[in-house]
Amino acid sequence: MKRVRIELEIPTDFYREFSNLIKGHYANRSEAIRDAMRLLMDGLKEMPLSQNEYYAIPGKKKRTKAGVFVCPNCGVEHWSISFGEEGAKCNTCGKIMVTKHEDVDKLLVEKEVDAYECPKCGTLVEDNPLNYTGEKTIDGQMAVMCPECHNFVNGLPLIHHGTSFGNFEPKISGTDYFFVYHRPCQRKGKGGFSDIYACIIDAEGRIILNVQCQNCKAVDAIKTSPFRKLPSLKHIFLSSELRERVGSYAR
Ligand SMILES: [Zn+2]
Ligand SMILES: [Zn+2]
Ligand SMILES: [Zn+2]
Repeated sequence: MKRVRIELEIPTDFYREFSNLIKGHYANRSEAIRDAMRLLMDGLKEMPLSQNEYYAIPGKKKRTKAGVFVCPNCGVEHWSISFGEEGAKCNTCGKIMVTKHEDVDKLLVEKEVDAYECPKCGTLVEDNPLNYTGEKTIDGQMAVMCPECHNFVNGLPLIHHGTSFGNFEPKISGTDYFFVYHRPCQRKGKGGFSDIYACIIDAEGRIILNVQCQNCKAVDAIKTSPFRKLPSLKHIFLSSELRERVGSYAR
């Protein structure tokens, strides 16, 4: 291992304070620093590569009751409302629904909705716009995400924009094949082999692979970046079945 010597300029006051602090615990400053570094390195070993991973672990479908705000003027349902100066305005009919915060509950109407029990944390996640991510699942439903643990609870999401966490890495294997593995799981000795469960081709000619780790069920997107912008998509052949699945992404 290559050793690197780092020079630090430390104020003498700080040295004195440090020596006082470690008195009785360590024989000298070097010993204290070595011990601190050891602790730090152990801590880093345990730390996941990224804190914000998204998972897809479908949960059991259930029915539950949820409160939805109904506009008294036009009857349109709102899953959330926001207050302006005059009160809460309906963004469908433009009329004020309530003027005071205390009156908000009067707009609430109970409704039966689908929900999914998150297998990761047990939260009952309602199938309503508050829990939508903007993505759809490969089955064409709005993707529902658990707000507690960032788990997609109703299937595999079609991900156009990846998280950029860099936890999934493609690797060449043999001739013209490659596979993708999930680095955090590989680092824990679990393999981290990942399935490529969807492929999206966008208007820029990028091929976006949606991947899921077989071990921990983390999902993400990784994409190819073409050298030149393709003049059009006519060079890419899609079967009619694939074209249908790719849908609006292949404009
Ligand atoms: Zn309205
Ligand atoms: Zn959860
Ligand atoms: Zn994993």
